[in-house]
Amino acid sequence: MKQTYFTPGPAELYPTLYQHLQTAMDEQIGSISHRSQKFRDIYKFTDQQLRTLLTIPDTHGIFFTGSASEVWERVLFNCVEHESFHLVNGSFSRKFYDYANSLHKFAHLHEKPFGEGFDYADVEVPEYAELICLTHNETSSGVQMRTGDIHKLKRKYSKKLVVVDMVSSAPYPDLDFSVIDSAFFSVQKAFGMPAGLGVWIASQACLDKAERLQKYENLTVGAHNTLPTLWSHYKTFETPATPNVLFIYLLGKIAEDFNKIGIDTIRKQTEEKARMLYKFLDASDAYSPFVKQDRHRSQTVIVATTQKPSADVISNVKQAGMVVGTGYGKFKESQIRIANFPAVSIEQVDTLINQLQK
Ligand SMILES: *Cc1c(COP(=O)(O)O)cnc(C)c1O
Repeated sequence: MKQTYFTPGPAELYPTLYQHLQTAMDEQIGSISHRSQKFRDIYKFTDQQLRTLLTIPDTHGIFFTGSASEVWERVLFNCVEHESFHLVNGSFSRKFYDYANSLHKFAHLHEKPFGEGFDYADVEVPEYAELICLTHNETSSGVQMRTGDIHKLKRKYSKKLVVVDMVSSAPYPDLDFSVIDSAFFSVQKAFGMPAGLGVWIASQACLDKAERLQKYENLTVGAHNTLPTLWSHYKTFETPATPNVLFIYLLGKIAEDFNKIGIDTIRKQTEEKARMLYKFLDASDAYSPFVKQDRHRSQTVIVATTQKPSADVISNVKQAGMVVGTGYGKFKESQIRIANFPAVSIEQVDTLINQLQK
């Protein structure tokens, strides 16, 4: 039986993906040179669609990597000489922090328990931290940080660079790139594509920092996909290494589809579906929303504590043709995670709620 995937990545494929994939095959995208005009046109198109979708100004470049976790390493290598600062409240934000330690950065940690979120007023950033590392949507626990709070943090610490992991929420968060220096995501979450491409948005200020580290501090910024190399190739819409041309093409097409609907509509639909899910969970005896504070509840990954073992719930919805995610880590058996990405419609969410009720 064909299933609807409510899993938080890989997730349900966006409905138009099949057609775009067919077109890409017909146009032999898989065989074109990444040094050809045809590729440069594809990169340029995807760049423009993402700029429109996320309101990215000319001060920022858009680069492609193998995955989002690759960007954790890239941004730490390129934007931190000594010290980074991390807000950690779950497994993904924790991994970002772990990467900093692995790269021998002095990583400051501000941690909250699983299921809790951060507010602007909670956060004190140490004086010498150069990069503030934030996770907009903590996929493991279903906690979100409000973009208003992210912007306030940057305004308070305007000399520091701010990078936002928006992997399991983009394009939902209305980040203001006139203040935010960098953000990144991968395509197998809310863009509804198979896994295999990371997208890194970084400002001129990030580039300046990387160049300074390279030239004057005699520090390595890595060898692969360094920001200065990515940027110099980006000027002609090329990439240092042979990229995932097919996925760059598909991403441009999906972003174009999102733009046709309009980002405001996509955000409203996301909020509408999230409202339906939380309302159901709040009223139900069999489930409860894991995240208690309304303002920290994720709009894109909804985590529920289940009365019954989560395996029973998962198999119940599976029989009706739907797949929901397990809880993360030690919550595997007591929670489910429901992705609320643009690929699933209001009707599909309604069907899921009906089945969860049974
Ligand atoms: C999935 C995810 C990542 C890692 O993405 P990959 O594409 O697997 O590298 C990082 N951060 C968050 C918040 C995620 O949900």
